[in-house]
Amino acid sequence: MNPFLELGIRHEIVNAITELGFEKPSPIQEKAIPVLLTGNDDFVGLAQTGTGKTAAFGLPLLEQLDFSSKQPQALVLCPTRELCLQIARDLEKFAKYIDNVHVVAVYGGANISDQLRQIRRGVQIVVATPGRMLDIIGRKAIDFSNVRYVVLDEADEMLNMGFQEDINNILSETPDDKKTWLFSATMPREVRRIAQNYMTNPQELTVGTKNTGNENIEHQYFMIRAKDKYAAFKRIVDYYPEIFGIVFCRTKIETQEIAEALIKDGYNADSLHGDLSQQQRDKVMKRYRERNLQLLIATDVAARGIDVNDVTHVINYSLPDETENYTHRSGRTARAGKTGISISLINAKEMSKIRHIEKIIGKEFIRKQVPQGTEVCEKQLFAIVDKVHNVEVHEEQINAFLPQILESLQDLSKEEVIKKFASLEFNRFLNYYQDAPDLNMEAREARGERGERGERGDRRTGSKGYTRLFINLGSVDEFSRGDMLSYICNKGKISGKSVGKIDLKGVFTFFEVLDADVDSVFQGFNGVDFNGRNVRIEVSGDKPSSDRGGRRRSGGGGGDRRDRGDRGGSRGGSSRGGRDRERSGSGSGSGFRDFSGKRRDRESKNRY
Ligand code: AMP
Repeated sequence: MNPFLELGIRHEIVNAITELGFEKPSPIQEKAIPVLLTGNDDFVGLAQTGTGKTAAFGLPLLEQLDFSSKQPQALVLCPTRELCLQIARDLEKFAKYIDNVHVVAVYGGANISDQLRQIRRGVQIVVATPGRMLDIIGRKAIDFSNVRYVVLDEADEMLNMGFQEDINNILSETPDDKKTWLFSATMPREVRRIAQNYMTNPQELTVGTKNTGNENIEHQYFMIRAKDKYAAFKRIVDYYPEIFGIVFCRTKIETQEIAEALIKDGYNADSLHGDLSQQQRDKVMKRYRERNLQLLIATDVAARGIDVNDVTHVINYSLPDETENYTHRSGRTARAGKTGISISLINAKEMSKIRHIEKIIGKEFIRKQVPQGTEVCEKQLFAIVDKVHNVEVHEEQINAFLPQILESLQDLSKEEVIKKFASLEFNRFLNYYQDAPDLNMEAREARGERGERGERGDRRTGSKGYTRLFINLGSVDEFSRGDMLSYICNKGKISGKSVGKIDLKGVFTFFEVLDADVDSVFQGFNGVDFNGRNVRIEVSGDKPSSDRGGRRRSGGGGGDRRDRGDRGGSRGGSSRGGRDRERSGSGSGSGFRDFSGKRRDRESKNRY
């Protein structure tokens, strides 16, 4: 008998989840479903993301709601729009074979009237982010008097994001006798307080150990010098030809810079950060979800709620400022019982941070060596061999050409043909890694190479006598280079002669200003806004203020493009992802094509 049937789930639901590939319950489902099916208790479940929480509460909800009525009976609150959509989609899939199930996703950054219309038509399950939910309650557009269940999903994240008061207000709108089911990856005091204030003798379940990271994640670190970071990062990526990863950076600028550099180097990458409009973010996420992107470069905030399965690697290009965020970052891999690797690129000074994280996650990191060029070549070679082995052959189409192909190759032995096919891709790696140095810190030091201090400046600072600045406006704001020049001169009260190179990008621009005029630019842009958005100026490559205390900065922090249309679309990046190439049987699997489909020389003359 199907184990979900044994737990008390009806046939219609079991059929739907079987189609989704659920063969047996995950540990949280096994434990939570019998408790929640009784419908009698409040409940606290401690479980990481990706453990099957949605079905753990979703299946019991579907079992117990009355779908002949069109009144809201269940409210699921979650921290992000991403998660909100994901939960609503999952519930609809679980309910595929049940009639008249209506689920609405209610979240900010989208048209409220569509959501209100759906609510008016009648829904039994409301999945919502707290801010938008309160808005709708404030409009008296929803009746919660029949709500029987409230689910608080990722409660710790909701509190981290400052939703405490909103949650209190929403809960006070629901009937006293409803049952509350709370799920959280960690149990800080604030979450405990919610449990105490709003729940009666909740049944408590823990899957995995409290406050620890997922057991299936291997935590690794690589010790490298700042100067070598980008090269080492690329080498690690090359070492995993099938990587499908999320790369975390600390700032928006770093995120953009790394993504741009990767794209230039022919990788299949794009960035996700707060300077993008909601539509731009959605586009990037869609490409990533559909595996048309191999590397997603993101800030912590933008990556909240990213919920994509089969992420093979999380790479901490920079360690998070808040150590707690490490758990959230690494939890993006090893979902649904899979294994995953969380990699951190650190310098010697950051070792203490690693030790601190080890304490929090209760697990040791493994120190890894940056692979040597020859090791990367070997990995890539066998990836090519695997690919040849598994490539789909279109018999009919290829047969027509086969006699001619065989004739052209007839002077070669089988072994020679194999060698030549494998060399097609392999040669590029051999060339690229021919004289590749050992990038590990000790090897660098053993060779007596210069320290980081002197080397840092040249990659991001401006030409001699100039400072390179960042501004969060670019071509999507309909600036040309000329427009940008006048804008900078006008606001910064400087002459055109003071401005050096202007590097206009999609959503931002780098420009050089004579060192002597930098202060004038900062002053001139202080408090300036553009179409209702704060204009932000930063010194390019500057360290975040927490490292230094008081970096130079103008404007009010991250500009929010949410209210604006998506004029520029997402920038760059190949739409031909790893899987795509696999299907077409060309390419090497790690995104070495540019957008025109041309091969790119990986030896980039990049700033990094
Ligand atoms: P969640 O933690 O609910 O986001 O689930 C993570 C992923 O695991 C989702 O893609 C689910 O579809 C999948 N999943 C959940 N439960 C099971 C199960 N029992 N068997 C297989 N996959 C599952």
